[in-house]
Amino acid sequence: MTRLAIATRNAHKVEEIWAILAPLLPHVHRDEVASALDLDAPSPVEDGVTFEANALIKARALAASTGVPALADDSGIAVDVLGGAPGVFSARWAGSHGDDAANLALLLDQIADVPDEHRTASFVCAAAFVTPDGREFVEVGHMRGTVVREARGAGGFGYDPAFVADGQSVTNAQLAPERKNELSHRGAAFRAMAPHVAAVLSEPRA
Ligand code: IMP
Repeated sequence: MTRLAIATRNAHKVEEIWAILAPLLPHVHRDEVASALDLDAPSPVEDGVTFEANALIKARALAASTGVPALADDSGIAVDVLGGAPGVFSARWAGSHGDDAANLALLLDQIADVPDEHRTASFVCAAAFVTPDGREFVEVGHMRGTVVREARGAGGFGYDPAFVADGQSVTNAQLAPERKNELSHRGAAFRAMAPHVAAVLSEPRA
């Protein structure tokens, strides 16, 4: 029986989120967690202008359509010299949603003339957790770093090949997945969210 729904259609993201949460939710089994895709849930229009708003839109819609507590996230990269852009437009910065290579190429082009010391940025992740009876929780995580000039590494996704987190000497795309989760905005947001999820899932079921 599904006890927790995760609002993404991306299997990689479900596994990444579950890898972060599983050690913190020892009483929940992997087969009690389902994605929006598994549950054939409709995708809402993400028309919020903040990460928090979009995460809440996704979690509310999934909790309403499935009747089980729902988790969602919304994330992106905020480049300081661009005033926080691409921000909530990170997934479609070059025009078509989810074209990671084009998005990264455009960003690198836009800041090509920016000196190294001004290429600072943050990855940001807002996690939202909504129960069918209307309780809502939001936690935000950040990862500070620098956008480097050349993409390096084959791991990760999105802007990872050109992002070096503070204190690291390799790009996110060169980090082991477990190491990225320890450092990442998504890791921070979902670790902060885990106690709320644990508390709700330990309530007696109706
Ligand atoms: P979302 O799936 O709607 O949250 O969109 C997130 C977008 O932000 C992705 O398509 C990536 O372009 C970017 N992004 C978010 N988190 C990461 C990350 O951990 N690494 C690289 N890119 C990321």
